[in-house]
Amino acid sequence: MSWRWGIDLGGTKIEAAILDASMRPIIRERVETGQEQGYGHILMQISALVSTLSEKSGIPMPRQIGIGTPGRTEGPEGVVKNSNTACLNGMPLQRDLEEVLGMEVLIENDANCFALAESMMGAGRDEMLSPGALAFGIILGTGVGGGIVTGGRVIRGAHGIAGEWGHNPLPGEDAPCYCGRRGCVETVISGPALERYYASRSGRELPLREIAAVGSRDQAARETIERLVASFGAALGAVINILDPDIVIIGGGVGNIRQLYSPASRAAIAAQVFNRTLDIPVLPPLLGDSAGVFGAALLTDSPFSSGASRG
Ligand SMILES: [Zn+2]
Repeated sequence: MSWRWGIDLGGTKIEAAILDASMRPIIRERVETGQEQGYGHILMQISALVSTLSEKSGIPMPRQIGIGTPGRTEGPEGVVKNSNTACLNGMPLQRDLEEVLGMEVLIENDANCFALAESMMGAGRDEMLSPGALAFGIILGTGVGGGIVTGGRVIRGAHGIAGEWGHNPLPGEDAPCYCGRRGCVETVISGPALERYYASRSGRELPLREIAAVGSRDQAARETIERLVASFGAALGAVINILDPDIVIIGGGVGNIRQLYSPASRAAIAAQVFNRTLDIPVLPPLLGDSAGVFGAALLTDSPFSSGASRG
């Protein structure tokens, strides 16, 4: 039986799940990360969680498990970089987990897990049934990232940066970005960037969801949302010209802004696309918080990769 085991390793909680062959979750468990107790503690928490899952479900330990976590892993030992769980940085997480768990460990960043889960189990389910279909899953929140999925797999790319559209330049923009360049997409359409823009126009600080809710009654709010829609369209249109995905799914806090799914937003994307019409769906996600742990489980050997059909 092809169960798939996944773990979402976050800064405050660690969640684990087992999916059955039809990608249905059959058991889920979570524990506190306890990152203040250090790296060794996190390894033990994961190990205990995996044992609990096996005991409660009666499913034997797998030979392989997927892990989704913010940041990246590099090299054969899976050394962590850029994680917001600081004690993981510089540690050979993949090697150590393989030792502690006694199984193969596959680690992927959280944006890629989001893209995998939403495309295969969530908003992209129907589109991805077509052979060769390709999904672009976006995280639009504090940062701007994304993942590319085709054939049930994440495309990582030669540098491991495939889908990182947040650091493409936006024409006409010049704000400095933490990455060292200027005018990156992330400096314009991330949640914090849009809130700063609104504050600079209105002299008031508001969370983005409130800025979006006041809408046309407030000129600064209207300008902020227009800026989001226009810049999002320009940035996404450029990605579509390269990837030509069959579906785009927008996750993250900014992805909840309903104006991103409006006719004006589609027009802004279409204006940048090298085709007469924009013929693909741009959708909100369906899985909520669960995308991380489901995506991690989908990292493991997939029935799709061998060309087998979905059950
Ligand atoms: Zn940048």
